[in-house]
Amino acid sequence: MTDWQKSAWRDKPRVQMPDYTDAEALGTVEAQLSKYPPLVFAGEARTLRNELAAASRGDAFVLQGGDCAEAFDQFTADGIRDTFKVMLQMAMILTYGAKVPVVKIGRMAGQFAKPRSAPTEVRDGVELPSFRGDIINELDFTPEARTPDPKKMLQAYTQAAATLNLLRAFSTGGYADVHKVHSWTLGFTDSQEASKYREMASRISDTLDFMKAAGLESETNHNLKTVDFYTSHEALLLEYEEALCRLDSTSGKWLAGSGHMIWIGDRTRQPDGAHVEFARGVQNPIGLKCGPSLTPDDLKVLMERLNPANEAGRLTLIARFGAGKVEDHLPRLIETVRDAGANVTWVCDPMHGNTIKSATGYKTRPFESVLREVREFFAVHRAAGSVPGGVHFEMTGQDVTECTGGVYALSDENLSDRYHTACDPRLNASQSLELAFLVAEELTA
Ligand code: PEP
Ligand code: MN
Repeated sequence: MTDWQKSAWRDKPRVQMPDYTDAEALGTVEAQLSKYPPLVFAGEARTLRNELAAASRGDAFVLQGGDCAEAFDQFTADGIRDTFKVMLQMAMILTYGAKVPVVKIGRMAGQFAKPRSAPTEVRDGVELPSFRGDIINELDFTPEARTPDPKKMLQAYTQAAATLNLLRAFSTGGYADVHKVHSWTLGFTDSQEASKYREMASRISDTLDFMKAAGLESETNHNLKTVDFYTSHEALLLEYEEALCRLDSTSGKWLAGSGHMIWIGDRTRQPDGAHVEFARGVQNPIGLKCGPSLTPDDLKVLMERLNPANEAGRLTLIARFGAGKVEDHLPRLIETVRDAGANVTWVCDPMHGNTIKSATGYKTRPFESVLREVREFFAVHRAAGSVPGGVHFEMTGQDVTECTGGVYALSDENLSDRYHTACDPRLNASQSLELAFLVAEELTA
């Protein structure tokens, strides 16, 4: 894109971004980040685009998952490892059940900035700016904590770099070797799902033993010993994104160096807005959240703007309507895509349309609603002859109690036990596995 500049978003209307009051401090941080190495490389983003293109045709399936918001004070190696492990388990369940390769994308190593439903929050008559994620301000309800601080971008970069470093080590250093399929289980998941998983793992092990005995598996089979694991986040804080944007010398195209895939949120997808302007110029795969208010006309313009060359794998449409509403909204968007002859990858986010307040006052999501939205997504695609290309979950490997339901029938009263999210409620490991088995069933139906 020759006419595009990484700073052009600054001339467009921006929403959901902080007003930094200290322009000098902001400039210093931006200058510093601009000199730091990018976190990802253009070749990786292109490989991911090819894999997403396969998913758009039904030749692969996307599994995107991780925290709603990564948090500075919950940053541990075990936390990263456990989410990685659950995603490997889920990918194994989907691959084994549906016989398709799974494209694994974490909401990790950069998922820090959050859009909010209100710019301020009032407590006991005191009004302060809303918490917008650790990269912007702090959760504590004090004027100091809620003031946006540009230096937090440097801490976010450092945490993202360390997270990605560990993910790369796990992916290629032996940990993700399929022969270790048994060892990815987590201590506390001794649920029905976990035993179902162990059964499947045993069958996979048997197959691997057979392949080896029959001379079908060479010692150096790279595909069995490593995985490709990608990172993604909502590109909300455009000062951070611009500072990490790099020109790729191989292709002469720009790259968002902050993560392999970036997405545009449901609240920031104005066709003439700042976020669309930034995303259209970088070569990374782009996600676009599609909520109930997205009109066919806007979708048409957005597809032209974000994917003018109509490349498969470039644009992923992430549907998030809420259980019971998929049929009201998805068909017209599928039709818009079809009429435009557009290549897109359809992914279902069954989380963001299903957030409710529990009787005990917690923000939660009923597992039943999550599952129902996934089923409706598959049914609408099937009826329309369109391809359901993947799923997008807020989930963690930690044994949290944030979403109700699931085989353990977590109730409103249980939510307070281990409610740790800094933002939206996540599926825990056992709920995630349960969902993976159910999605695998849908895929083979
Ligand atoms: C999110 O993915 O955390 C999010 C805020 O989603 P949406 O933009 O779809 O509401
Ligand atoms: Mn969220």
